[in-house]
Amino acid sequence: WQNLSDRINIVSPSATLAVDSKAKAMKASGVDVIGFGAGEPNFPTPQAIVDAAAEACRDPRNHRYTPTAGLPELREAIAAKTLRDSGYEVDPSQIVVSNGGKQAVYESFQILLDPGDEVIIPAPFWTSYPEVVKLAGGKPVEVLSGHDQQFIPTIEQLEHARTPRTKAIILNSPSNPTGAVWDEELVRAVGQWALDHHLWVISDEIYEHLTYDGAHTSYVGALVPEVRGQLLVLNGVAKTYAMTGWRVGWLIAPPEVAKAAGKLQGHMTSNVSNVSQRAALCAVSGGLEEVSHMRAAFDIRRKAISSALNAIPGVSCTVPQGAFYAFPNVEALLNTPLGPNASRAASSSELAALLLEEAHVAAVPGEAFGAPGYLRFSYALSDEDLIEGMRRMQGWVTTRI
Ligand code: PLP
Repeated sequence: WQNLSDRINIVSPSATLAVDSKAKAMKASGVDVIGFGAGEPNFPTPQAIVDAAAEACRDPRNHRYTPTAGLPELREAIAAKTLRDSGYEVDPSQIVVSNGGKQAVYESFQILLDPGDEVIIPAPFWTSYPEVVKLAGGKPVEVLSGHDQQFIPTIEQLEHARTPRTKAIILNSPSNPTGAVWDEELVRAVGQWALDHHLWVISDEIYEHLTYDGAHTSYVGALVPEVRGQLLVLNGVAKTYAMTGWRVGWLIAPPEVAKAAGKLQGHMTSNVSNVSQRAALCAVSGGLEEVSHMRAAFDIRRKAISSALNAIPGVSCTVPQGAFYAFPNVEALLNTPLGPNASRAASSSELAALLLEEAHVAAVPGEAFGAPGYLRFSYALSDEDLIEGMRRMQGWVTTRI
């Protein structure tokens, strides 16, 4: 719109939030929608974490601002957790606690990019990456790997996308939206390649604890220690502890970069809610038992949704190895009659709209992730809803007049 800045006009709205809010609006108006849209665990936040927050509310110290970069004890706990999980030491001064991992992603590019700088983004990608790159004046360079390569790029593909303007690469393994997990060999190779070409590595590790089938998260900072001087790690409590709405994430970066992030955050949002930080402190200083229960439940749903999707004619789903998303290819459903009205979808975006309107099943179109021809299903919903949603989709797809 002409009265708004160019900066905001080039940004697309978050498609995942859009699907979720449309589904929620339909639900509110009485339609029984099954929502595979949001990346939100359906489990409650573990009780000990809720108790820590309730306790914090009653403590007058927590009515105040905290340091912008976060409570010192939380930053220490994040450093300890990083050593435990990723296997290398970071200093608390390298950590900035942010309003969700999302703010850490935003800040990273505001800090690193000058106008015209390019960022290599392996696609399918999390929907916010290109938008936050554009908001920082940068140019997203997408490198697409389809289901034929399990959504995992090769070093040759990445190298092909590199130009003299390339400033950074995003690594997101386990991946949203595909659930792909990059193996150690590739993560090491990417770290080494970034080192050789002086590229920043932005490693989004928010799904680190959600891996299946013996796959595990490979940490670039551990595998290629030399890259730590040009590495920004993004993480948060949302997915590991079922705390999406608590809004606590963090950035781990070289000290000068962390200082810059603190400066930026100081003018944007100041500190994260004090009470949420206390809750996050309880979460990250505790064990990983709760997430292991969630992982076991997700694992069952992962298998259930992959086989249900693969049983639908025209749908082909790579079995995901991480996170809580399935990302089936649906190209064979395009331009063919579907459902009782013999509706036709020309794109996965139209297919998602029809699926929602006619079958009351919400999924996010691949267009939102740089991969038309796919749909993303979050399986962080209840087992009953998963089964019912798949039954509806199967019924809708196979009912033709
Ligand atoms: N990174 C990825 C890949 C995500 O999927 C998400 C949330 O969906 C985030 C970061 C941000 O999470 P939050 O801001 O809720 O901590």
